[in-house]
Amino acid sequence: METKMLDGSQIEEAADIIKKGGLVAVPTETVYGLAADALNGDAVKKIFAAKGRPADNPLIVHIAELSQIYSLVREFPEKARILAERFWPGPLTIILPKSELIPDEVSAGLDTVAVRFPSNKLAQALIKRSSPLAAPSANLSGSPSPTSAGHVYDDMNGRIDAIIDGGSCEVGVESTVITLAADPPRLLRPGGITLEQLRAAVGEVVLDDAVMNPLKNGEQAASPGMKYKHYSPKADIVLIKGASSDFVDYVNLHKGENIAALCYENEVDRLELPVIVMGEENDYVQQANRLFAALRAADEKGFKTVYAHCPKPEGIGLAVYNRIIRAAGFEVTDLEK
Ligand code: AMP
Ligand code: MG
Repeated sequence: METKMLDGSQIEEAADIIKKGGLVAVPTETVYGLAADALNGDAVKKIFAAKGRPADNPLIVHIAELSQIYSLVREFPEKARILAERFWPGPLTIILPKSELIPDEVSAGLDTVAVRFPSNKLAQALIKRSSPLAAPSANLSGSPSPTSAGHVYDDMNGRIDAIIDGGSCEVGVESTVITLAADPPRLLRPGGITLEQLRAAVGEVVLDDAVMNPLKNGEQAASPGMKYKHYSPKADIVLIKGASSDFVDYVNLHKGENIAALCYENEVDRLELPVIVMGEENDYVQQANRLFAALRAADEKGFKTVYAHCPKPEGIGLAVYNRIIRAAGFEVTDLEK
């Protein structure tokens, strides 16, 4: 199949592809999504095939008007109303009991559905001209999420009908996922809306154990996506926890052929090996924005091992931490010990 490159003036053409049951990659403020008509189970199946995504990993349904959610869920509790009012449109996904309109392919057999109202204008325009869209990140399953149309093309050329180029994504990591099908609400995946913001809005929110830690043997994932190896470039990511000076000393001792450092701006001058810069040490928003492009750059440059300075798990930094420990297979070298 030939994959067409479209721009923002060709939304009508993209909407036609969706209405005919095809696949279109669309920019959102988080990462690029791979979209199909969420109410068409056969179209949704194609998403799993194009990505190589395990069939038990459910998809997020994207809407472009709050009223669209009412037919997709069985209940819309007070806390959902508060979260929607405060954070939509934006990078927050809310899980609720699903209605019978949601095909099993979308919810992967669960009794719940994940819904998000993105703020990106092209995504909104596509939804308004077609239907609610089921859309996971538009990467091959397991590899870093795409934050530019070029990243999508690298993974999906020949596998999908079209890509809408909307430039690079504002947030750069996937949406925050909270489930209201549990009481108290539970944060399943950190993202652009922080745990602190959620607690300020609705009170108690439990941080699911799978956000920071690998699942124990035989443990069920509240969010199926959390159990898979994720976000990993081909290079080995070695995560190093510690102060800047200790990180720099440690990595300089380990320099060698095809070895690089994933570091902060203030460390560049002291490092004696090739570097990929994640941003300023205390600017978590910037780190989130650059993380996936940095992981892809490691492969483009052919590095075999990348020593990464572990981000602090606070604010949006929690989302960066959650992605990078998965890229590193949960192994952290702690220089503070
Ligand atoms: P992606 O769209 O690729 O960013 O992945 C969507 C994430 O949301 C995955 O981690 C899914 O497991 C999770 N998710 C989607 N729907 C549900 C649901 N109904 N219950 C729990 N997690 C979900
Ligand atoms: Mg994904």
